[in-house]
Amino acid sequence: MTTAADTYPLHFELTPNDAARADAERETMLSDPGFGKYFTDHMVSIEWTTEGGWHDAAVLPYGPLTLDPAASVFHYAQEIFEGIKAYAHEDGSVWTFRPEANARRFARSAARLALPELSAEDFIESLKQIVRVDKGWVPTSDETSLYLRPFMIATESFLGVRAAHKVGYYVIASPAGAYFTGGVTPVSIWLSENFSRAGKGGTGAAKTGGNYAASLLPQEEAYAHGCSQVLFLDSVDTTYIEELGGMNVVLVYKDGTIVTPESDSILEGITRDSILQLAADRGHKVERRRVSLDEWKTGVESGDIVEVFACGTAAVVVPIAELKGEGFSIVSPVAGPDSLTLSLRAELTDIQYGRRADPHGWLTRLDA
Ligand SMILES: *Cc1c(COP(=O)(O)O)cnc(C)c1O
Repeated sequence: MTTAADTYPLHFELTPNDAARADAERETMLSDPGFGKYFTDHMVSIEWTTEGGWHDAAVLPYGPLTLDPAASVFHYAQEIFEGIKAYAHEDGSVWTFRPEANARRFARSAARLALPELSAEDFIESLKQIVRVDKGWVPTSDETSLYLRPFMIATESFLGVRAAHKVGYYVIASPAGAYFTGGVTPVSIWLSENFSRAGKGGTGAAKTGGNYAASLLPQEEAYAHGCSQVLFLDSVDTTYIEELGGMNVVLVYKDGTIVTPESDSILEGITRDSILQLAADRGHKVERRRVSLDEWKTGVESGDIVEVFACGTAAVVVPIAELKGEGFSIVSPVAGPDSLTLSLRAELTDIQYGRRADPHGWLTRLDA
């Protein structure tokens, strides 16, 4: 497998979108963007072949991809993606958060899915390219952002089962509204007892669509039980907590210790890693280890566990009010305004939006 391109950094060729939305239309979309509904005027596209490596880096008008029906992504799901936000700061500049970490994770996901590695330089440059051309799409009201979705797919027309010899990398961008309007609301989550999202030695640690496909049915089950998210257990012993469909889980103990599950079938969240770093900076003891469902149940019941939350780029940090399953419900204490959950959330978002110093050098400017 070829690793990084032979000719990087890549040069991006810009084709401006002649049919770009008018300012008024864009402003209407930005006033109530929701999530993943509207897309900006441009997209990034880079091609890769086994012979040519990465080439034809371009910023193009946003629009449909033309793929052969035999393109292997449709049949064997050779696909990976990332999720990262661009934040407008008070002075109008646009920044992103720990893009090197997303680039590294994208490379790890690529390796697991037998896809080629895109260098961190090219990955980060692709984010700068789309933000520079579509800067007017970065919303500016509180807790809004431009959500960036880099992804890589197998585009070779070939039904044989092997890693594709032709691949496409794309970045699309979508304005995102505040996840919570009118205050952070705790969620109820559903324990999936019959389905796993990932198995031992599988693709659980890669950010790949297949893991999401596996989580959709249990997610429907969660909705049917009045819950908004699913909690998955390990697939070997169905004893240990893994994560939610798209967010990591963290438990806070009475003595201030913070515990999060460790497993090779969990997606290593950058939000979780950052929250744990901020907690460690404050002197909290942080443990990454196996956590059984029983530990959660008995800890919450005895009062040893005082807060439980989920975290990920889209929602940042969400308090978990209740864990429900067939025939049981464990109600966690409500995360009040002075809870660790909400104070870490505020500290992280203050850094991301430039309202507080960035002691770890986590921010990268995208628009200059
Ligand atoms: C993306 C993702 C997360 C959260 O990762 P962040 O880097 O914090 O956004 C957690 N779990 C899964 C399955 C994910 O796909």
